[in-house]
Amino acid sequence: MNGEWVIVSSERAKRPADYASTAKVRNIPPEHSSDCPFCKGNEHKCDAPTYEIKDGNDWKLRVVPNKFAAVSRPEHIPDTPLPRTRILGMHLLAQGYGAAEVVIESQKHNANLAFMEKNQVCEVIRAYKERFNALSEDPNIAMVNIFKNYGASAGASLEHPHSQIIATHVLATHITDEMAYARRAFNTYGTCIFCDLLKKEMDSGDRIVATSKHFAAFCPFASRNPYEVRLFPLKHSALFGTISEEEMEDLAGILQLILAKMSALLTDPDYNYYVRTVPNSDGKVGYYHWHIVITPRLTRPAGFELGTRIYINTTPPEAAAAELRGQF
Ligand SMILES: [Zn+2]
Ligand SMILES: [Zn+2]
Repeated sequence: MNGEWVIVSSERAKRPADYASTAKVRNIPPEHSSDCPFCKGNEHKCDAPTYEIKDGNDWKLRVVPNKFAAVSRPEHIPDTPLPRTRILGMHLLAQGYGAAEVVIESQKHNANLAFMEKNQVCEVIRAYKERFNALSEDPNIAMVNIFKNYGASAGASLEHPHSQIIATHVLATHITDEMAYARRAFNTYGTCIFCDLLKKEMDSGDRIVATSKHFAAFCPFASRNPYEVRLFPLKHSALFGTISEEEMEDLAGILQLILAKMSALLTDPDYNYYVRTVPNSDGKVGYYHWHIVITPRLTRPAGFELGTRIYINTTPPEAAAAELRGQF
């Protein structure tokens, strides 16, 4: 649908157990780690929270600035456009302006988003929403990215359950390309291409993994990565920051369900997920539909993928969806 080719290899088709060699044996973490900056009692190892959910005098969830931030903001938000300069008359250089924050999902070092209390997952989603909306108020911020890295091969350097938010003042070109494609389709057909896709996937059912009152999860047609799942709100909505209370509760349940299914089927794989949304300034557009992409890290792009951006997916999405559906 996005113009990218994928080779879905039925010759080399793999079953879940075939990926086991890529799975690492995960240490069983303790409930508390004295070295961990995110554990209770070590709050002084982090900067003051930008957001916190309290439980009496105690905290349930905290959002703190990332100590190893890739981007940062000055104390005073500039009210003039940030300069961009030319290098050698060809390259463009911009300031690394933005914000990087960590969502500490629980006090417990050994908590796991897939299995923690559903209302705690709802608080995690609420933290995403609150920080998304707060960071979006800065006129210099073009894009607020919410994502989770779970496990070392997915890029997580700390074991403690956490997600991340990185807001930048530049937009990624592959996101603007996807939005331009969706906008062209909207101008041509007059409907949201994602709403159309969702309806067709629901009608067919072949790639559907799970549905809830407000969401549907499916393995995309010819996905680049095996067992990739996309989670869409059923009602058209372009902007993640507008998610309602009822939708957050519902999303917590279906997000956990997908993660638990992946954990059971693929033996607790490393994974990434990320939220795709229009920026706040584009709030009510008809052409885009926010969603979450969940990708277990089972394979690694190699020379062919790096050279061509054509991926080889060794598990057809229809088979992946059927296997994920079959887990409880
Ligand atoms: Zn910890
Ligand atoms: Zn839509």
